[in-house]
Amino acid sequence: MRPRLSALRLTHHTLISCGLATLLASCAAAGTGASTHGTQPALPRNIILMIGDGMGFHQVSAYRQFADNPATPALEATVFDDLLIGSLATRPFGEADQITDSAAGATAYSCGIKTRNGAIGVGTDGKPCVTLLEYAKQRGKRTGVVVTSQITHATPASFFAHAGSRKQISEIAGQLVGLPASLQLDVAFGGGSADFTAEALSTLQNGGMQVINDRKALAALKRTPAIAMFAAQGLPKAIDRDANVPSLAEMTDKALTLLRSEPKGFFLMVEGSQIDWASHANDIVGTVSEMQDFAAAIQVARRFAAEQPDTLIVITADHETGGLALGRDKKGYWHTALLRQVRASAAGMAARVVAGADAVATLESWSPIRADVADKQTLQQAGRDGDKLEDAFAAIVSRHSLTGWTTTGHTGADVPLYAVGPGSDALRGHHDNSWLGQQLLRWLQVN
Ligand code: MG
Ligand code: ZN
Repeated sequence: MRPRLSALRLTHHTLISCGLATLLASCAAAGTGASTHGTQPALPRNIILMIGDGMGFHQVSAYRQFADNPATPALEATVFDDLLIGSLATRPFGEADQITDSAAGATAYSCGIKTRNGAIGVGTDGKPCVTLLEYAKQRGKRTGVVVTSQITHATPASFFAHAGSRKQISEIAGQLVGLPASLQLDVAFGGGSADFTAEALSTLQNGGMQVINDRKALAALKRTPAIAMFAAQGLPKAIDRDANVPSLAEMTDKALTLLRSEPKGFFLMVEGSQIDWASHANDIVGTVSEMQDFAAAIQVARRFAAEQPDTLIVITADHETGGLALGRDKKGYWHTALLRQVRASAAGMAARVVAGADAVATLESWSPIRADVADKQTLQQAGRDGDKLEDAFAAIVSRHSLTGWTTTGHTGADVPLYAVGPGSDALRGHHDNSWLGQQLLRWLQVN
């Protein structure tokens, strides 16, 4: 399913000629920004695209309140706040009222096209589209993906693979292993070792890829290319991690350290993958702690960009998840203090009960909540089923903190857009998600 080089060149030319009018328009937009500031903005040499999967505006404001220092009267600013420049609409190809999934949402960014839900780096015709990573490689840049999901998961896969369905995991893993040297990822950090056979891993190693699976080896890593998988599937949630699992910030820092030496620059996609998973579970503590993990990675990227000013950082989401609301039941409060005292995700608490712990005792030792009659009933109904227990713990914490959710799926809400660095002025305003992908592709074509 990978585009052959001839097809790749054809699409490349087509995009350049078709995109000329919009390219000029975007140059004009950049020029307007320039005259305001008195300097001609340079094009970005490095692009860091950071995707908070499922991160709607309310996930960001929940994180802001969670991260607030309660000792001061002011609500402290977050790493997001001064970078806010606009918003993106997220609907996929299809009916006007359809809600996107992460595959179509990521392909809107990776290829600049609208496609069907489930599609990984392919258009509505099923044909592979050329991704930002592939363009970057053509321009002599280095590339990478850093995620907390499996490396084969929908968001990262849409940047390096082409498949009709996100469920074709072995096909996606096989494409990563089979990438020609000219398109090979320089870094791929995350989880998902279960998706790669021993044979696939040795093929990668024989091709010069370093394959690592623990935090010490990540710290010791000195050169590219490297693939690192720290869990069989997704990484444990940030709040549940032990010392063997790196944070998203740590993986991002290592990726940037390894990529920075390339004179032609790089394109790096960093994903806070499990903001989405926690919001699917309607787990507010999981959601804000995953936001915290993502925010720390943004901090690392911002420090890097401050040293390398020809770096553009763009931060957005593929869609909102959960229909999160900071308040419910006409109560007039949203209890952030309670959230700060919960020490495990709902999945983390569920795992302890599945392993044999008492459900009520688990709730009361990992959170400040004293189980009332309704809570006890909710936990009893879940029995020893891991998924039901996760839902039960999540529902109890939501009820006590007065957190609202409308769905365990995605919503069609707009997502926030943040950017800093060369070109960021041209991204201002509200746009369609695929417009952002087209804009990033244009910059990769001219620089
Ligand atoms: Mg994702
Ligand atoms: Zn999702």
